[in-house]
Amino acid sequence: MNHKTLLTAGCLAVLHAGAAETASAQGNSAARAQEITRAGTQASTVGPADYFTGRVRVDPVWPADDHLTASGGMVTFEPGARSAWHTHPAGQRLVVMSGAGLTQEWGKPVQMLRPGDVVWCPPGVKHWHGASLTTAMTHLAVTGSLEGKNVNWMEKVSDDQYNAGVTADVPKEAPAMKASHSLPPKQRSIPTIAAAAAVGEMPRLDTALNQGLDDGLTVSEAKEILVHLYAYAGFPRSLNALSQLMKVLDARKQRGIKDPPGREPTPMLPTSDMLALGTANQTKLLGQPARAPLYEFAPAVDDFLKRHLFGDLFARDNLDWQSRELATLGALAAMPGAESQLSSHVRFAMNVGLTAPQVKQVSDLLAGAGQADAARRAAAAVAQPPQTNP
Ligand code: MN
Repeated sequence: MNHKTLLTAGCLAVLHAGAAETASAQGNSAARAQEITRAGTQASTVGPADYFTGRVRVDPVWPADDHLTASGGMVTFEPGARSAWHTHPAGQRLVVMSGAGLTQEWGKPVQMLRPGDVVWCPPGVKHWHGASLTTAMTHLAVTGSLEGKNVNWMEKVSDDQYNAGVTADVPKEAPAMKASHSLPPKQRSIPTIAAAAAVGEMPRLDTALNQGLDDGLTVSEAKEILVHLYAYAGFPRSLNALSQLMKVLDARKQRGIKDPPGREPTPMLPTSDMLALGTANQTKLLGQPARAPLYEFAPAVDDFLKRHLFGDLFARDNLDWQSRELATLGALAAMPGAESQLSSHVRFAMNVGLTAPQVKQVSDLLAGAGQADAARRAAAAVAQPPQTNP
């Protein structure tokens, strides 16, 4: 065997040729008995520089053998580390165990990976995987073997290729990622859901939630839209809307629809400084530090806005910032008297990377759902020159 065939992609390099021989030598009796490989008995190896960029550790888990023609390996990439481009002759499954990762298929955008995500790399598809720029990532790689071979290594992932995906690492800084003229289907129901929730229009909320789930919102995202709204429409509207979502999900389950649960937000560390984090988030959204006489007049509200709305809520990563702003636009448009906040959020929406045509589309979507007053307010906010209200 040459060096190459021994190394499974970012995935592992482990040879357990010895183990496979032992199993077959023991024959059928061994095949019928349980076998426990004790923790600590398989040495860690380093991902070789020919096939990896940065520091990579491979911990063998099990070898491919006659019983299961796929090996398992735990691979840990330090921040910025990644595999070279490669293919797998028999495919590969990656289960992200911890941290924040990135993966890319040749010719497609880089995608962010979070704990619990499971990636299927089909046979022959050129790809790479690794850590995000700032955070390490560990995944379990389950790699199939075909005629004893499980990876074909190719060229390294260049810094330019890797950096092109770095924005995917931090959803908050995604504006550069892509400029589009219309919202992806999954986001089109968000303003309608939020508008109906903010004014307690339950039948309309029911329709909008069903539409959003049909268009690909996960349960976690739908829930988070309504949680986020409490900061704008108050707890009563938010709680009523969440209880409507429970009914909608129940009814869909009865109809045999399996809505994907989505993922829970990454827990914050108890030591996180929410005031500092919230202030940074608020500055990003506003495009500048928030200053207004109002905040000096009522410092408590400034503190709550920063610590809680821009801190606690915006730190929850189960709903991206663009979707949060789409929800806010919908809610504010539905509520008479919040025009100045609405026009500020038109600007925030663009600051988090929504394009002008996408923000303009909010009004069309509201009109299409029969929310005429909200549609009118959204259109007026987009038309008027930017203001600097809180
Ligand atoms: Mn791979």
